[in-house]
Amino acid sequence: MVVKCEKCLPIEGLEIPDFTSAEKSSLYSMKNQSSIHSTKFIIDNFNLNHQQAKYIVTHINHYGKCNSCTFDKLDEEYIKCPKCGALNFNWPTNEIGG
Ligand SMILES: [Zn+2]
Ligand SMILES: [Zn+2]
Repeated sequence: MVVKCEKCLPIEGLEIPDFTSAEKSSLYSMKNQSSIHSTKFIIDNFNLNHQQAKYIVTHINHYGKCNSCTFDKLDEEYIKCPKCGALNFNWPTNEIGG
């Protein structure tokens, strides 16, 4: 699927893999430990380049909470924040590692 963030390049958006819920869970917990590590993991496992991997890691958020502002009522996946316009992946992973 293609995701777009009006705050980030490329402006045309990015085609991202169809992550399974297991992959979402591991990427989410990996990012909480190290953004660098999760970026490298995506490059190695999903055959993406550094820019694409970084784009993905940048937009993984804590469920419900916008990465770019204080808004905390995001309720859909791959949602644009109604307050600041930033994209959040908003994967429903709050049941793990919480
Ligand atoms: Zn963005
Ligand atoms: Zn926001």
